[in-house]
Amino acid sequence: MTEAAPASVEVRDLEKRYGETVGLGSVSLAVEPGELFGVIGPDGAGKSTLFRILVTVLTPDAGTAMVDGLDVVADYREIRKRVGYMPGRFSLYQDLTVRENLEFFASVFGTTVEAGYSLIAPIYSQIEPFEDRRAGALSGGMKQKLALSCALVHRPRALILDEPTTGVDAVSRVEFWEMLAEMTAAGITTLVSTPYMDEAARCDRIALLQAGRLLSAPGTPEAVAASFGAPLVSVRATGDRAALLDRLRAAPGVARADVFGDVVHVTGEGEPSASAALAERLRQSLGVEAAPTAPTVEDVFMARMGDPDTLSSHVQPTDA
Ligand code: ADP
Repeated sequence: MTEAAPASVEVRDLEKRYGETVGLGSVSLAVEPGELFGVIGPDGAGKSTLFRILVTVLTPDAGTAMVDGLDVVADYREIRKRVGYMPGRFSLYQDLTVRENLEFFASVFGTTVEAGYSLIAPIYSQIEPFEDRRAGALSGGMKQKLALSCALVHRPRALILDEPTTGVDAVSRVEFWEMLAEMTAAGITTLVSTPYMDEAARCDRIALLQAGRLLSAPGTPEAVAASFGAPLVSVRATGDRAALLDRLRAAPGVARADVFGDVVHVTGEGEPSASAALAERLRQSLGVEAAPTAPTVEDVFMARMGDPDTLSSHVQPTDA
């Protein structure tokens, strides 16, 4: 659907400070052409800083960032033509209508809605019946569709989407990820950020970001989850949770215990193969319902956040 091949994105040792505050530490990652790549991290992780550098509205203090083979500093004009950007909270013009917003974004790039229509049609057709409505009067899900249409109307090779699902309802979130899958199938490289760990599974590959640093080497969601590297046991949380956490944390061979919904995930010491033995020990010594469980991306995040030694040992640039 796009005129040219999808873009690649390559970031090497990228740094950005705001006075004393670290926006980005030394971040390196590579996004392959046509990939749907997720940057997963909480508020303040550095997601917007990274994306603003990639779309050339912010300059890095150190390191390099290339989009579609072009340097974000030297070639910023050309990059702006090649990327579509959806900032956090979807900066639409609230007083303009749906159609006027789309026409505005097309005209900024010297094109027309008609020229870009075939690419945006699957998304825009859903809001077209409300073309004359002011953007400010749309629901969150509709604003999200309009913002994505505006980011796509000039037929970019790469899409950079900053927290597009934050603050929208669960149904719209699912729909949005389906639209992104369609865009990558159409040959657009997509970088998307989210604070929701459960959305990691929707991406081809992910990077976990916290306090301006990667918590793991970028990889498939399965590979990142599998990099957990320690025994993990799920314990059913009944009764007094605080007391249960205290007992679990005090048990021999337990490195940490974290609440995950209605269970507690208990991390042991040693190799992942020791999970069954740890579960058995917890059952015997504490009388809890415990079973080995497969680590999730969230387990990796919890284990590595705030642990600078672990961070540095897991951060490697990816060439594959
Ligand atoms: P995220 O998008 O993951 O929420 P940001 O990139 O917005 O993270 O922020 C990363 C860090 O940089 C945070 O500590 C934030 O407070 C800080 N920061 C971001 N923008 C500015 C700014 N313009 N001035 C000062 N600090 C900033």
